[in-house]
Parts: sequence; C-alpha cells; structure tokens
Amino acid sequence: MIVNRSKLSFWERTYLPAIINGFKVTLRHFFKKKVTMQYPEEKWTLPEGYRGAPLLVKDPEDRTKCVSCQLCEFVCPPKAIRITPPGPEVNPELGNVEKAPQEFEINMLRCIFCGYCQEVCPEEAIFLKSDYSLTGESREEMVYNKEKLLEMGGIHQDQIWKWKNK
Ligand code: SF4
Ligand code: SF4
Repeated sequence: MIVNRSKLSFWERTYLPAIINGFKVTLRHFFKKKVTMQYPEEKWTLPEGYRGAPLLVKDPEDRTKCVSCQLCEFVCPPKAIRITPPGPEVNPELGNVEKAPQEFEINMLRCIFCGYCQEVCPEEAIFLKSDYSLTGESREEMVYNKEKLLEMGGIHQDQIWKWKNK
C-alpha cells in the first residue's frame, strides 16, 4: 500500500519552525521556579504517615518486640521476609524475651512497601518508616538482617511493657 505523504513547504524544510517552537518551550520554563534538588545532599520533606521501608522496632527497654509468629512472613505478597524462630532452648541473655527471632531478614529488592506486614503484626514490632533511599552494591547487601533492621527501626515509644512481668 502506498502512503501519500504531504510535501513539506520550503519554510518547514528549513526546520526553523520546529527550532523556534523548541526555544519557546525552553524560555517558558527558564524563569519558572526550579524543582531540581541536589540529591542526595538534599532530600524531600516527607508527608506524615509516609510508608517507606519496613523495619523492626524495639520496646522502650531495648528489647526486640517481634515474637516470631511469622504472620508477616506468611502475608508478604512478594515473599520478601524470612524468619528463623528461636527454637526450644531459652537464651538466658534474652531474659523473658524468649520468642525473639534468631534471624529476621527482609529482602529490600523484593519488598513493594505495601505495609501488609505492619498491618498484620499483633505486636506492633514492624513499621514502615520514612527510609526510602535504600542503596547497595550487591543483591546480598540489600537483604537486611535482624541487626540492621533493628538498628534502623530504633525504639518504639509505646505504653505496653509486655515482657516486664512475665
Ligand atoms: S511492606 Fe509488603 S512487601 Fe514489604 S516486607 Fe512488608 S509485607 Fe512484604
Ligand atoms: S514482626 Fe510481627 S508479625 Fe512478623 S513475626 Fe514478628 S511479631 Fe509476628
């Protein structure tokens, strides 16, 4: 099938109309307020309730709140969470927190920041915090272990001291 193409006029063949239109757009934006920021030195001010990376938190007595129930592992859509429960032996160093996980990993490359883990957790032990800029040089580095998750998550200032009198 032959496609009939309209012929360009002399004026159009000079490309000047396209160039002039391009300059018009540039000029229009030239004096507008810029939104460019010097990332990563400058960062966005995040709105309240922003859901970034899921992290583990400790209670005000510096104890791991997670009890290895594995609900978050079960509910996580991309299977980003892997928990190793503590087993039958009681670790005297952990005191009453005998159910704290041996290992707790979140693969941040898989995580879709959906928040299901936070919703399902009966212990308020995992929260989607404001960290959104997660970087690493390898896939292994992006699997956050328990220590890293707890360190980044920090202390959760709630009023429930559940391990105190057990
Ligand atoms: S935020 Fe969603 S995807 Fe990420 S670990 Fe939690 S449940 Fe899984
Ligand atoms: S973070 Fe919460 S839901 Fe996940 S294993 Fe620990 S206590 Fe259970």
